[in-house]
Amino acid sequence: MFRKDLIKLLQCNPLSLKDIALLLEMTPRDVEDDIRHLIKSLRHSEYHLHVTPAHCRKCGFTFHKEKLHKPGKCPICHESWIREPLLEIEKRN
Ligand SMILES: [Zn+2]
Repeated sequence: MFRKDLIKLLQCNPLSLKDIALLLEMTPRDVEDDIRHLIKSLRHSEYHLHVTPAHCRKCGFTFHKEKLHKPGKCPICHESWIREPLLEIEKRN
């Protein structure tokens, strides 16, 4: 039931882990756990989770898609001016 709420929340509405945590009054770590379960349970459904990877606003480096939370520092330029990854539920075509 909670995962259904997550689907509703994220459908056509990209949010970061931090945004979701604030909205649901959970810790980002708990949200991340739920999202990981959600990805698995969506595998055979009509939805899938689209992740816009984090990127460095300074040099443009794009982080790996698997990272759902905000990286601390850019490995290239060592700046911490990082755009958080955004999570969104999309319907499969
Ligand atoms: Zn950078």
